[in-house]
Amino acid sequence: MLLKKGSKGDDVKELQKLLKITVDGDFGPATELAVMKFQGQQGLKTDGIVGPKTWAKIQSRNGGEQNSDGYVWILDNGHGGIIDGVYQTSGKRSPKWEDGTQLFEGEFNRAVVKRIIKMCEKDGIECINLVDTEKDLSLRWRTDKANDIYRERQQSDGKKCIYVSVHANGFNKESAHGWSVYTTVGETKSDKIAQILHEKAKAEFPTHKMRMDNRDGDADKESNFWVLRKVVMPSILSENFFMTNREESKLLLSEEGRDRIAKIHYQMIKEVEKNKII
Ligand SMILES: [Zn+2]
Repeated sequence: MLLKKGSKGDDVKELQKLLKITVDGDFGPATELAVMKFQGQQGLKTDGIVGPKTWAKIQSRNGGEQNSDGYVWILDNGHGGIIDGVYQTSGKRSPKWEDGTQLFEGEFNRAVVKRIIKMCEKDGIECINLVDTEKDLSLRWRTDKANDIYRERQQSDGKKCIYVSVHANGFNKESAHGWSVYTTVGETKSDKIAQILHEKAKAEFPTHKMRMDNRDGDADKESNFWVLRKVVMPSILSENFFMTNREESKLLLSEEGRDRIAKIHYQMIKEVEKNKII
């Protein structure tokens, strides 16, 4: 189903009812504006056209399951994905191992973010997949978009946004290993959230090395930190082990490893929601 300016009928009435605007069955400028506003709040393309994505979001928002006093979790799957078998980002991959396997970071990040969102939606926790495409969108695009969503929500329902960027680490020596989480300097709200994620990781991976905000001189970090500096909301960035380390790369390539990494993020989100950390 596709509804846009000029559409008429019962489907338009249903849409207007869900958007809580005047119900007249006529998709005019006011309906279009309400749709665009909603799309902006949800991080969707603000084209004023109700296609499957927008429709699904409107219905889930009105399903009554949404926790109205919770947070909006903006999840950023760093780097590009794979389009027609071609990885969209230069670098940001593991070496090709002897068994022929190789990890592409953006693919891994997407797989984890999708799992986190699936777990959260089950509980009515609101998540936004910031980069809902395989394309490699710039850091500036990501932070601008996250900040737009934040401002939209401030103006509409006042829900607080929290930004979470999911990554795998890399280094030019195979020896570097361990799990870490980063925050901006001196942002205490983010520190609390990062601390919870750190604890969940430590509990889930007791035999693995835990690194806390440990700057190891990796040049890539410079750009990664951009996202933490430029977003106007509490923000954290997880570096989920080193894809350049043989053992850890195996973990990241496995379904089980991805499930467990998604799980620690989900546990962190649940705890922040439950205790209203910020
Ligand atoms: Zn990364």
